[in-house]
Amino acid sequence: MSKIIVLAGGGLDSTTLAYMLADDGHDIDLLSFDYGQRHHKETYYAFRTAVRLDVRHDMVDLSEVGRLLTGSALTDRNVEVPIGTYDAETMKATVVPNRNAIFANIAAGIAASRGAKIIAMAVHAGDHVVYPDCRPMFISALRVLLLTSFDSDFDVYAPFVTMHKYQIVKLGAKLGVPFSKTWSCYVGGEKHCGECSTCIERKEAFIAAGVTDPTEYEQC
Ligand SMILES: [Zn+2]
Repeated sequence: MSKIIVLAGGGLDSTTLAYMLADDGHDIDLLSFDYGQRHHKETYYAFRTAVRLDVRHDMVDLSEVGRLLTGSALTDRNVEVPIGTYDAETMKATVVPNRNAIFANIAAGIAASRGAKIIAMAVHAGDHVVYPDCRPMFISALRVLLLTSFDSDFDVYAPFVTMHKYQIVKLGAKLGVPFSKTWSCYVGGEKHCGECSTCIERKEAFIAAGVTDPTEYEQC
């Protein structure tokens, strides 16, 4: 058993990761970030996951940093959320520059202060094309950075880095992850919009996994 700080965004990937680690008997804490994103539904879902798993959850306030990361649909109200497709070119509008490196470094500092030597991230293969900070090379480089920074053992656990989202759905289904209590939609309405790029990716992952999608969508 290890003490692990899990970056938890409230989506189905990081929720499945948290369930997997808890199921394996690890002592996990969940960590979410307010980076000035359009809505806080996702972080609320991360908080609820922590309550269900009976583990600690902290929210790091980076809203002032997010305000300065302009140009992304996720942090900049002047950039539209992509609707109807998740092809690479369209999805570039959702890149928040260097986001995972920012989050991971803060998480690693918090981990060290709690005596933990592992952070866990739910990056997956479907993110590679658009998001450079989700690729295996990024994870390898981050490991080296943190080993160097701490001058002692430290690991970045990213078990989904070569998996596709539908495989995560399959795994989550086996672990009993309550997918209806995870949030993907970038728009952040009452229900998942069903039309934005991440909603489409979510729907397709359930279909490819052969798992019933319990998500309520505004548009099916
Ligand atoms: Zn949506």
